[in-house]
Amino acid sequence: MSSASPSLTPRVAIIGAGPAGLMAAEVLSGQGLGVDIYDAMPSPGRKLLLAGKGGLNITHSEPLESFLDRYGAHRAFLEAHIRSFDPQALRAWVHALGIETFVGTSGRVFPEGMKAAPLLRNWLHRLRSQHVKIYVRHRWQSLEASTTGWRLQLAGPEGIRQADHAAVIFAMGGASWARLGSDGAWVIPLEALGLPVAPLLPSNCGFETHWSEHFRSRFAGEALKNIAASVRTAGGTTPYRRGECLVCESGLEGSLIYALGASLRHELLEAGEAVLLLDLMPDRSLEWLREQIAAPRGARSMASHLQSRLGLKGVKAGMLREFCDTATYADPAALAQAIKALAVPLHAQRPIDEAISSAGGLRFEALDAQLMLNELPGIFCAGEMLDWDAPTGGYLLTACMATGRAAGLGAARWLRQYQTTTEIAPA
Ligand SMILES: Cc1cc2nc3c(=O)[nH]c(=O)nc-3n(C[C@H](O)[C@H](O)[C@H](O)COP(=O)(O)OP(=O)(O)OC[C@H]3O[C@@H](n4cnc5c(N)ncnc54)[C@H](O)[C@@H]3O)c2cc1C
Repeated sequence: MSSASPSLTPRVAIIGAGPAGLMAAEVLSGQGLGVDIYDAMPSPGRKLLLAGKGGLNITHSEPLESFLDRYGAHRAFLEAHIRSFDPQALRAWVHALGIETFVGTSGRVFPEGMKAAPLLRNWLHRLRSQHVKIYVRHRWQSLEASTTGWRLQLAGPEGIRQADHAAVIFAMGGASWARLGSDGAWVIPLEALGLPVAPLLPSNCGFETHWSEHFRSRFAGEALKNIAASVRTAGGTTPYRRGECLVCESGLEGSLIYALGASLRHELLEAGEAVLLLDLMPDRSLEWLREQIAAPRGARSMASHLQSRLGLKGVKAGMLREFCDTATYADPAALAQAIKALAVPLHAQRPIDEAISSAGGLRFEALDAQLMLNELPGIFCAGEMLDWDAPTGGYLLTACMATGRAAGLGAARWLRQYQTTTEIAPA
C-alpha cells in the first residue's frame, strides 16, 4: 500500500496524546502545519499525569555518554534523536513552559513541585494557542491510502468516522496500565499492515520469588537499602549495580530491580528462571566478612553473632536466612560468600499491566532515520510503542519526547519535500 501525494491543505494526524504525540504536535504546529490529535481516552496525557503522582522524573543529569548507555542495545537507534533533544534541551523546554526543574540527590531531574499536572496544563495551553486540535474519545482503528494521503478510520462518540490526512504520526504508547489508554491494541492492525512488532513485555516491574510465609509476613513492605545486585547468566554474571529495592508480597521490585530488568527478563525467557545475586554488604570485602564470621561466637546464635560482628540484621538478615541452607549458614567461609552473592531465584515477572513501561514494540528496521515507515511513506512512529527499553530515571520520558520531536520534524520535512516536488502550498 502506498499513499498518494498530500492534499492542498495538508493536516497531520497524530494518534495518541501522550508525551510523544504532544511533542510531535508541538514541532509540526510550530512550523505552521495543521495538526489533529486523536486519543482514545476522555482526556490527554493520562499516563503522564500518573507518572507525576510518584514524582515526575523528567530526565537525568548524568553525563550524556552514560545517559545514552542506559538504552543498552537500543542506543544505536535512539542516539541521534536524543542528542538533538538531550536532557539539557529537555530541561530548557520545561523551563520555557514556565516550570523550573531541580536535580535530586540521585541525579534525577524533576519539575518543581514534582507533579505532571502543571506541566501538562501549560503544554496543552500552548498547543491550543498553536491551533492544535485534540479529539478525545477517538480510537484509531485502521488506515488506507487515499488520494490526499492517508484515510484513517476512527471510532468516536458519534460512531465510526473517516478522516483524511497528508501524514500520520502514531504515538500510541506501550502496553502497561491499559486503563490509562495505552493498551497495545495497535499491534494487531500494524501487524496486519505487514509491520514487524517485537512482543510487548513488562519492563520496570517487580519479579516474583517464593517467599516462606514467615519471611513474607515479617518483611513484606521493607526496603533493602545500600545493597548491590547482579544477574547470573550462562556466561557468568552481569556487572554489580548499587542501589536499593523493596520486598513486596510476591517478590522484589524497585529501582535496582528495574535497572537489572532487561537481563532478568532475558534469563527468564531463555532459562525459565532468573537468579538475582545480592551483595548485602557491598562496602565490606569477602575476606573481612570471613574473618568476622570466623571469630569465636561462644554461646551466641549465628544470627546474633552476625548482628554484633557485622551489623547484619532485620530484612537483610532475614534474606540471608531465607536463601541459605543450613550447611551454608553454619560455615563461616560459605556464609561470607553468601552475604556477597546471595542467590535469589526469580520465577516470573509481575503482569504487564502493573509495569511502569513495556519493552518491545514496532521494530526500528521498519523505520528510516526520520522515524518514517519505509513501506508506508508519510506515516511516522514515536514514543514507547517503538522497540526500545530503558530503566526508570527519566530515560523513558526523554526518549518518548525525543522520538516524538524527531517524528514531528520528519513529517514536516517530508511534507515540505512534497510541496517542492508537487509545488503545493500548505494551508
Ligand atoms: C506509574 C508510572 C510512573 C511513571 N513514571 C515515570 C517517570 O517518572 N519518568 C519517566 O521517564 N517515565 C515514567 N513513566 C513512563 C512514561 O509515563 C511513559 O513511558 C510515557 O508516558 C510514554 O509516552 P508515549 O507518548 O509513548 O505513550 P503514552 O503516554 O502511553 O500515550 C499514548 C496515548 O495513545 C493513546 N492511544 C493508544 N491507542 C490508541 C488508539 N488506537 N487510538 C487513539 N489513541 C490511542 C492512549 O490513550 C494514550 O493517551 C511512568 C509510567 C507509569 C505507568
